[in-house]
Amino acid sequence: MDVSLLESALHDRGEPAYRAQQVWEWTARGAAGYDAMTNLPRALREALEADVPFSTLAVETQGESRDGTVKTLFRTADGHPVEAVLMRYRDGRRSLCLSSQSGCPLTCTFCATGQMAFGRNLTAWEIVDQALHFRRIEPVDHAVFMGMGEPMLNLDEVLAAARRLPALGITHRRTTISTVGWLPGLKRFVSDVDEPIRLALSIHAADDELRSQIMPVNVRYPLREVLAECRRHYAITNRRVFVEYVMLNGVNDSPEQGRALAELLGPKGFKVNLIPYNPTGMYDGSSRTRIAAFKAQLDRAHVPATVRLTRGRDIEAACGQLAAAPKERQRTVASAR
Ligand code: SAH
Repeated sequence: MDVSLLESALHDRGEPAYRAQQVWEWTARGAAGYDAMTNLPRALREALEADVPFSTLAVETQGESRDGTVKTLFRTADGHPVEAVLMRYRDGRRSLCLSSQSGCPLTCTFCATGQMAFGRNLTAWEIVDQALHFRRIEPVDHAVFMGMGEPMLNLDEVLAAARRLPALGITHRRTTISTVGWLPGLKRFVSDVDEPIRLALSIHAADDELRSQIMPVNVRYPLREVLAECRRHYAITNRRVFVEYVMLNGVNDSPEQGRALAELLGPKGFKVNLIPYNPTGMYDGSSRTRIAAFKAQLDRAHVPATVRLTRGRDIEAACGQLAAAPKERQRTVASAR
């Protein structure tokens, strides 16, 4: 729901100022539509129905994984594809994986989103509407900006969206923004954001040479500068930065590379998430034993580390698999030939 459009529509009709808040509260609590907002006059509900689309996104397809993960493909009003995921955990947690852009202009070699065409930045409302869609299915309590796109390339809209999430039941402490280390946005995030929103860094390699090979963005913003910002974040907030490391067989997963990562990060300020690689074509995933041996190096150096649970792989809803429609991907593949 575009709340600024809502506000101007209400203003134009001469409605009292509290109306926008009333409508927003119903929406944030999962109301199915204007019709459910029973403390609004019927005529007003009908007028809103006609003038302010209840969502800025249309649902195109939705799939549910054997493990309960739900992936939804949306379209923006101007036709751009956007995917988002609801993850359901046994302990009752309900976590949303939200997209900040349609596609992504960066070209990380292991990520399916980087292989599709980049569309555009999403507005705050297009981001909030992903979350609202799932809130209408069931209560939710966590959100990660780990869907399509690079949040630090669209920081203002991402922050505006994140600031709306507490109304849906997702506090800032349970909201995480993930970045490849896009320095201009990261610096602003560290300097300016007062809310206790969590920060995650997709690192994937402990040396610049390998990282530049698998994540071209590293040529522009090398590790040393990116890590300095992460340390500054920790110094200011005392909140650890999550470090994501996707395990690529024979590429970045040797015990020596584990030791190098431990040395680079040190025992303070970071928590490492080892991510089993979800197939997107380019690589093979590391075996469980290789992941365990890598993790042992971090353990030895007292760098906190966990292996991430893979969710939704059977419906291509897992990390790095969001690529909108197969159609889109085919088109990219065809044009690359
Ligand atoms: N652009 C931001 C936000 C997206 S997060 C970022 O990269 O941080 C998406 C996460 O999934 C990142 O940690 C990314 O590295 C990881 N990922 C990408 N492709 C993957 C794959 N094929 N298997 C597992 N994880 C992957």
